[in-house]
Amino acid sequence: MNDCLFCKIVNNEIPSQKIFENEKILAFLDINPINPGHVLIVPKKHCNGLLDAGEENLNALIQPVPIIAKAIMSALDYEGFNLGVNNGSAAGQIVPHLHFHIMPRRAGDGHHLFHGAPYQLGEIEKVAEKIRQQLT
Ligand code: AMP
Ligand code: ZN
Repeated sequence: MNDCLFCKIVNNEIPSQKIFENEKILAFLDINPINPGHVLIVPKKHCNGLLDAGEENLNALIQPVPIIAKAIMSALDYEGFNLGVNNGSAAGQIVPHLHFHIMPRRAGDGHHLFHGAPYQLGEIEKVAEKIRQQLT
């Protein structure tokens, strides 16, 4: 895509700190990291998000995650990592070219991702049923 920031990074039109690449994906450092070493993995072939990615892009993106995550943790002495995708602007996606965030973590680093509040009594069953209906 002509005007896409991450396509420009893939095409070397914008500089990045590249970490890893193969025929299908590029991994580079996020310039506003959650913690230093926060990496973005993008497919070289443009897609907006998870819903239009297709199997080839998805497989190519997930395959190197453990390899890159282990390298970040060893290099910078982290204890764990979060894997994240912001999908759609409502979910905080700023760059509309699919990317996986690998966010390295240490205990007590102050980040609290993905942990919400419990359901009201009886609510969880209704929510699950609504989603299951869409899947049948
Ligand atoms: P998202 O909210 O999932 O779309 O995240 C986009 C991410 O891209 C943010 O974490 C930004 O810090 C990061 N970002 C934006 N511009 C660049 C850039 N030129 N190089 C590396 N990372 C970038
Ligand atoms: Zn793109």
